[in-house]
Amino acid sequence: LSGTGLWGGLFFLSFFFFFVFLLQPTTKLFIDGKFIDSKSSEWLDIHNPATNEVISRVPKATQQEMLSAVNSCSQAYLSWSETSILTRQQIFLRYQQLIKDNIKELAKMITVEQGKTLADAEGDVFRGLQVVEHACSITSLMLGETLPSITKDMDTYTYRLPLGVCAGIAPFNFPAMIPLWMFPMGMVCGNTYLLKPSERVPGCTMLLAKMLQDAGAPDGTLNIIHGQHAAVNFICDHPAIRAISFVGSNQAGEYIYERGSKNGKRVQSNMGAKNHGVVMPDANKENTLNQLVGAAFGAAGQRCMALSTAVLVGEARSWLPELVERAKKLRVNAGDQPGADVGPLITPQAKERVNSLIQSGVEEGAKLLLDGRNVKVKGYESGNFVGPTILSNVTPDMKCYTEEIFGPVLVVLEAEDLDEAIKVVNQNPYGNGTAIFTTNGATARKYTHEVDVGQVGVNVPIPVPLPMFSFTGSRGSFRGDTNFYGKQGIQFYTQIKTVTSQWKAEDATLKSPAVTMPT
Ligand code: NAD
Repeated sequence: LSGTGLWGGLFFLSFFFFFVFLLQPTTKLFIDGKFIDSKSSEWLDIHNPATNEVISRVPKATQQEMLSAVNSCSQAYLSWSETSILTRQQIFLRYQQLIKDNIKELAKMITVEQGKTLADAEGDVFRGLQVVEHACSITSLMLGETLPSITKDMDTYTYRLPLGVCAGIAPFNFPAMIPLWMFPMGMVCGNTYLLKPSERVPGCTMLLAKMLQDAGAPDGTLNIIHGQHAAVNFICDHPAIRAISFVGSNQAGEYIYERGSKNGKRVQSNMGAKNHGVVMPDANKENTLNQLVGAAFGAAGQRCMALSTAVLVGEARSWLPELVERAKKLRVNAGDQPGADVGPLITPQAKERVNSLIQSGVEEGAKLLLDGRNVKVKGYESGNFVGPTILSNVTPDMKCYTEEIFGPVLVVLEAEDLDEAIKVVNQNPYGNGTAIFTTNGATARKYTHEVDVGQVGVNVPIPVPLPMFSFTGSRGSFRGDTNFYGKQGIQFYTQIKTVTSQWKAEDATLKSPAVTMPT
């Protein structure tokens, strides 16, 4: 090639790549009822975890865009907070129907961006839908209290009132369910909402926003911004935002809890986990092993309620070979492929991290009974796949035990008896979820009573409470004092006004000022 030809070729190639870049689909912002293109100069690629192909780009919203979004929330709050509760209820009744009608479309988007299997993605939407359905009972949930005749002619009553603008910051692992824990509960109480979905899976949130608009939510009641640290800091600092709901890692959650609280906001922060499944020798073996395998490896272990640690008690220790056999049978494949049980991890970095935690276990003396590190998925050689992995002989000082792995890895510890098993669980700093497998009622009762974990299953491996209850992770898995959804969710998104009123008959009028404290 001549010099001129080379430069011409390079010019053509850069023009071509710039053109391809422009053609790539982008994620919009949702501000004041409009889906708009960001003017940001900073964009992040979104990949399909099964192939690592770039499927879209998401902007880091500019300061100006974030300000417009929060101003839109503040403006909309003036009328939304005065909208009748029946109107809000009707909007969410229409919304739950729209979500139901579009479960498959939402699930497809989840599988493309997040990687989980289609069936599991439908479960993700369904568990979020249940929260929206629950929000529809707002007319009962928001009732205040009354006490007549607290003294002569005097009554006291309370109102539950919205706070103002609330905000949510969501993780990547449940692209539908977790945003649906947030804005429907906040909005149905009369708040307006600023949401920042995970920058790795924003697509599902955008579909949910469109459906909410179609259900009749007025412009500005929900605004969506995208980004990472700058967007998070903006939410923690902006004075108009009264409350923040966060779900994600401890690193981010503790930071957001502190920064948001320091700025006088309410913060509820659901964070990481290490959930133990205690297996008693009297358990129904078939049922228990299947439950354990499903809960450890489902969603490739990327669930905060994954049962990532088994504690085999007494004779149950001999069940290990059968556990391994069951895990081997799971099919690792792209989430949209028929029969897939275990999809890819979210990023190549996540895969590398999981692999290195497996290696650390081996180096610290654990026994690698099943190694998923070299799994090959035909047709998806570039995906972030790790197959089911089981490490036994694990002790509480090992890194594979002290860290949340967030991958398809089950670490197995052993205990002589129930007391020792309870001690292990209670010494772990996390308190998100746990399960015991037993056929003995007294054993189950002792475990549920003595274990210091917020959500306990008895022969139920993933005890995520339905929305009439609340998601009650505890200790190192939670910061704040009111949990997500259920009664506690309503409490989080409302404040109480107490009215004390006295209506006296004309002849009971005070004849002189009462200067002492009323008793
Ligand atoms: P993550 O903390 O990386 O991201 C969550 C959100 O925080 C994202 O919107 C992200 O943009 C933002 N963020 C990330 N790092 C930040 C930082 N250093 N400072 C400020 N903001 C930051 O979490 P993830 O990887 O998306 O999700 C996985 C984690 O979430 C796991 O630890 C899992 O256990 C946890 N999780 C907990 C629950 C629960 O209810 N307890 C539910 C789902 C997931």
